[in-house]
Amino acid sequence: MSYDPNNVFAKILRGAAPCIKVFENQMTLVFMDIMPQADGHLLIIPKESASQIFELSEGAAAACMLTARKAAIAVKTALKPPGIILAQANGSAAGQTVPHYHIHVIPRHSGVFLAPHATQQEDMEKLKQLAERIIAAWPECDESN
Ligand code: AMP
Repeated sequence: MSYDPNNVFAKILRGAAPCIKVFENQMTLVFMDIMPQADGHLLIIPKESASQIFELSEGAAAACMLTARKAAIAVKTALKPPGIILAQANGSAAGQTVPHYHIHVIPRHSGVFLAPHATQQEDMEKLKQLAERIIAAWPECDESN
């Protein structure tokens, strides 16, 4: 699939669209999902231009997973959900709505349904407060990872 440089995550990466940033390193960026399926829903994206997992370099794939692991640890520490899902969709048939590779980190609670996917925009102040809590719990790490 050819990469669309005008997708919203590409715009976020080049500073042409805003995001509530949680973490950034050389290869990845983490920010709050603005239409979260649960409180603390994060997105991890590579800085590399890849729409789906098929085009992603092995280096960027590894960097995204390392960052996703740290994101899951930070969410677990900050918000203490009993469960966390990591999800990643490739293609509209799989539910992908933004054509830049990304991994979702979504807290889960038994018996609590997820909000519908990419549907309702969350209050920005609430998202910023959640981001601050997750940032404060981000695990110590070597910045190169
Ligand atoms: P997917 O449908 O798997 O491609 O996931 C895309 C995700 O991006 C959805 O969960 C949306 O809620 C989220 N999203 C869309 N636009 C933005 C944006 N501008 N900032 C943050 N999250 C977004």
